[in-house]
Amino acid sequence: DSRLTHIKDSIRSIPDFPKAGIIFRDVTTLLLDHKAFKDTIDIFVERYKDMKIDVVVGIEARGFIFGPPIALAIGAKFVPQRKPRKLPGPVVSQEYSLEYGTDKIEMHVGAVQPGERCLVVDDLIATGGTLAAGIQLIERVGGEVVECACLIELSDLKGRDKLKGKPIFILVDFE
Ligand code: IMP
Repeated sequence: DSRLTHIKDSIRSIPDFPKAGIIFRDVTTLLLDHKAFKDTIDIFVERYKDMKIDVVVGIEARGFIFGPPIALAIGAKFVPQRKPRKLPGPVVSQEYSLEYGTDKIEMHVGAVQPGERCLVVDDLIATGGTLAAGIQLIERVGGEVVECACLIELSDLKGRDKLKGKPIFILVDFE
């Protein structure tokens, strides 16, 4: 797909952020480029428009940028998965491990109904821990995860191995 080169080029790489030795892939520069942003959403919409997706689930924070335009275009609802203590209603929550320590994400009870077909959206998969937790939350309330969609994969980290065979669709790979 000839659009992908331009999409990749629009993502800025920032060395030593948030700490020494890490290269941060910054999608805010993609958002400044109308063609790159629109092509990104279009590619996801082309893939999912006929897959009978009921719910687009976006993971905080950048899943909230890419998830809603996809949901609107394919006629799905949007559900946010958030960091702890952000959602005001009753939640289900899932802990997951980080390099040091653990983190948690939460989702409103009742936002995903049993049997609903879900697409999980985030900007980037690194170790896969975040997406794996997002999938678990959906499955715990009886939702069906059809696929995960990310703009970027850091493929050297083999995060997709954590997704227990769930399909993942990626636009850009940074090794
Ligand atoms: P994982 O749980 O290790 O797969 O990390 C993925 C999560 O961390 C996603 O929610 C990403 O938004 C965030 N993340 C990790 N590295 C980067 C990066 O280089 N750029 C942007 N987000 C990142």
